[in-house]
Amino acid sequence: MGERVFNFSAGPAVLPEPVLQEAREALWNIDGSGIGILEHSHRGKVFDRVIDEAVADCRALAGIPDSYRVLFLQGGASTQFFQVPANLLADGATADYLNTGAWSQKAIAEAKRYGKVHVAASSEDDNFCFIPGPGEARYSKRPAYVHFTSNNTIFGTQFRAEPDCPASSFLVCDASSDIYSRPIDVTRYGLIYAGAQKNLGPSGTTLVLIREDLLEKPARDLPTMLRYSTHAENDSRYNTPPAFGIYLMGRVFKWILANGGLEGMEARNEAKAKAIYDVLDASSFYQTTARDDSRSLMNICFRGPNEDIEKKFIKDAAGAGFDGLKGHRSVGGMRASIYNAFPPEGCDAFAQFLRDFEAKNG
Ligand code: PMP
Repeated sequence: MGERVFNFSAGPAVLPEPVLQEAREALWNIDGSGIGILEHSHRGKVFDRVIDEAVADCRALAGIPDSYRVLFLQGGASTQFFQVPANLLADGATADYLNTGAWSQKAIAEAKRYGKVHVAASSEDDNFCFIPGPGEARYSKRPAYVHFTSNNTIFGTQFRAEPDCPASSFLVCDASSDIYSRPIDVTRYGLIYAGAQKNLGPSGTTLVLIREDLLEKPARDLPTMLRYSTHAENDSRYNTPPAFGIYLMGRVFKWILANGGLEGMEARNEAKAKAIYDVLDASSFYQTTARDDSRSLMNICFRGPNEDIEKKFIKDAAGAGFDGLKGHRSVGGMRASIYNAFPPEGCDAFAQFLRDFEAKNG
């Protein structure tokens, strides 16, 4: 097998190597069944175990109480942008959104199809370089819910803690790019959703954690597949679920459990990000783009002195075995995405590359 490089892709992103090795076996023959995971019925005994364990491990990791359901859906986080308001925002009601980047904006645009949206805080005027602080949001009178994006993949900003939320309401979170990268108190939320392809597994599966009472009556008459209750009542098997994605997510949950759980991930992610931010902070050649108090442990966004040097940086980095460092096409510059599975030694090696590149080109 060829060598693997350090993959800084923002998503789909690097997965834990032991998980990939296991999956290789399972593709051929899972659990000695003589059938590969891609070929098993989603209603058979082998898959029963796969999904039951995935749910149990998902719950164990965050201590999710019985009053919440764990769902595996399809359509990516982008489907949640409209499935959330379709289910939870009645005609004429208002949902509050914190606008911290392009993904928040997309969620806002979809919610407007169903009800009113009040933007309670926004960092748009400062090119989304910060996260509104505690107490900065101005909520509407009785928001149906408060939606925020916990980590802004494109701008490299991340909430340090949950925003406050009016007592009459509940939080809804797009946690696509930092789910399970640190401990999370699920009981502070009504609903959490995340596309799997950054911290949890392959694309094509969306994890949804939803408080049970929110399943009771959708805000309107909806197609069967769009109702959360359909998927909850059928344990994510109303129709054929993304079986391989659920399998792989389950293996990733086990890998997280074996590596210190969410506390372990947090310590690992803090140390990884520090190795890179320390070099960027000590340099006047590189500039980080997020405000210090808002920067992300998952996506490190930075600029070089000019665009020509940035192009050379990305090219030289690729030559040295560091892939996927180009910033999102809407913002330019560089972005190092270092989700859970990105190895600490990759961050240390990249920190050295940053120093060497500056010494040669500064
Ligand atoms: N939200 C965030 C924070 C994201 O980073 C992304 C994808 N990069 C999305 C939503 C959209 O996810 P999907 O492609 O699964 O629809």
